[in-house]
Amino acid sequence: MINIDFSLAVALYVIIFLGAVLAVWLSNKKQKDRDLNLDDKFIWFCSVCAYTYVNTKQDLISVCPRCGSYNKKSVDISGG
Ligand SMILES: [Zn+2]
Repeated sequence: MINIDFSLAVALYVIIFLGAVLAVWLSNKKQKDRDLNLDDKFIWFCSVCAYTYVNTKQDLISVCPRCGSYNKKSVDISGG
């Protein structure tokens, strides 16, 4: 016969419950962080109409959704 103390049973129940809540909370937090983390290389700045947009498909050249002009990704920004 298994003899379990009442307080031990309650403690085990609380630990399991808190573990489940913590696991759900952590998984939710991870997903949120990944959604918010937008890579800087996906943010484009149109040199023609000064429109800032996001394009995750292109790497080097992207078409501006506002004016339709092509924008090249410039790594080095130096004024002349
Ligand atoms: Zn534009």
